Amino acid sequence: MARKILIVEDERDISRMLDYNLRKEGYSTAVVEDGSRAALAAAKERPDLVLLDVMLPGLDGTEVLRRLRADQKTASVPVIMLTAKSEETDKIVGLELGADDYVAKPFAIKELLARIKAVLRRSSAKAAEASRFKDGGLEIDFDRVLVTVKGKPVEVTAKEFILLRALVSAGGKVLSREELLERAWGMDSALDIETRTVDVHVGTLRRKLKSEGARIVTVKNFGYRFE
Ligand code: CA
Repeated sequence: MARKILIVEDERDISRMLDYNLRKEGYSTAVVEDGSRAALAAAKERPDLVLLDVMLPGLDGTEVLRRLRADQKTASVPVIMLTAKSEETDKIVGLELGADDYVAKPFAIKELLARIKAVLRRSSAKAAEASRFKDGGLEIDFDRVLVTVKGKPVEVTAKEFILLRALVSAGGKVLSREELLERAWGMDSALDIETRTVDVHVGTLRRKLKSEGARIVTVKNFGYRFE
């Protein structure tokens, strides 16, 4: 089934351009032009992602986002904010409103499509992660961030935990070092940190997991998978 994107944008040229390009990419879309109707539309349409302009008639984008987060039906929907001025960008970053990403206008559609893909990938990975994993001697409680090997607790760092969770949740699929880097260090820092950092953390993680560590298998020149 096509993933649905709700476009909240009052400038027709932009909403039409977005609508056209997103459909061309295989997404289904819905468009709302008024901020005051956006939260309601999101609760009704149940989109997989919301593109949310900041300057809107009715209700501004930051208030719309607040309402989305306050409603249980839309609390976890990924949101990408579209900002027109650098002050808006600062405000969004500063307020930590819980937007998943933001894109400044004017933007290149290719860039926006890449951001959408990345945010959707992260959100589906999150949803797929069960709250608990138990197999062989390894036990992970994802909610309480606890790792045990053969009943003994293992102390892992936050990054190591994120890497372990990603590998275990991938269900045997190989994850590239870039993917792991993005998961543990975030989209932006993925540009500045070398992929070798992932190798270093995986190395420490393996040692900490003792006999279970061998289940993290190196796939040469690509990444890692969990057996
Ligand atoms: Ca606008």
